[in-house]
Amino acid sequence: MAPGVELHLLEVGHCRHPEWITIRGGAWSACRFPSLCVLILHPQAGPILYDTGYAERFDEATAPVPERFYRWLTPVTLPPHQHLLAQLRGCGVDAADVVRVLISHLHADHVAGLRDLPRARFVALRAEIASVRGLGRVAGLRRAFLPALLPGDFDARLEYADDRPLRALGSEWAPFTEGFDLLGDGSLLGIPLPGHSACQLGLAVRRSDGRRCFLAADACWSARAFRERRLPSVLARPLMHDWQAYRRTLDDLGALALAQPDLHIVPSHCASSIAALRDDWSGRP
Ligand SMILES: [Zn+2]
Repeated sequence: MAPGVELHLLEVGHCRHPEWITIRGGAWSACRFPSLCVLILHPQAGPILYDTGYAERFDEATAPVPERFYRWLTPVTLPPHQHLLAQLRGCGVDAADVVRVLISHLHADHVAGLRDLPRARFVALRAEIASVRGLGRVAGLRRAFLPALLPGDFDARLEYADDRPLRALGSEWAPFTEGFDLLGDGSLLGIPLPGHSACQLGLAVRRSDGRRCFLAADACWSARAFRERRLPSVLARPLMHDWQAYRRTLDDLGALALAQPDLHIVPSHCASSIAALRDDWSGRP
């Protein structure tokens, strides 16, 4: 049986934008969208992160034009107590202790902290990495990708999730059928979630107390979206890599939620999901 892991939900900054862009029927007012990083404590492998959230380097990377448009569109707040390294220290983890970062996708709000983790290996899906190779500044910006956020030795530290063994998932994860066994022990199963970006890496995980969790990154921006099958505004379509794939992934999440009402499905920017899970989980940071 796969070992269970301990999860800590870290909110590493947030941005604000009008809710109605992220979900049809949403509020006209600007809402807070936290940026989630999950600290995964595996009993043997050591500390692993799922994404990093924001970092001060986001400000540096978006200081020049045209990158400055990014911060105009999504104003970012990162109070000192939410800095990734401060929160890791609060969990007893030093930056140099982090052995891996599982990168859901390369949007800046998910990878801004990579350069603060000197010894971590990086894990992502091949299609996601290929989608930004060779992009110029403007083309990269249109995909919310800021190359300045990646360490100079990113390629040398990169591992592809697709190179891991593909495992059949149990019926409890349907309609998702297969996942990449990221550590080789069945504890962390990487699930491709195409659409929002070229290919996000979702994560199916079982905690040490037996409860299951599905980290869904930006497959949707709120739990309400998959529960009520609500798409984003048409104005959000240009932000998507593949709109039809996005719809299919959202449908799959909705079907999973319907079949497994006790499963925690966590979109990375859903404030209510993160707050509810923090209250529910005993291992809260
Ligand atoms: Zn994204």
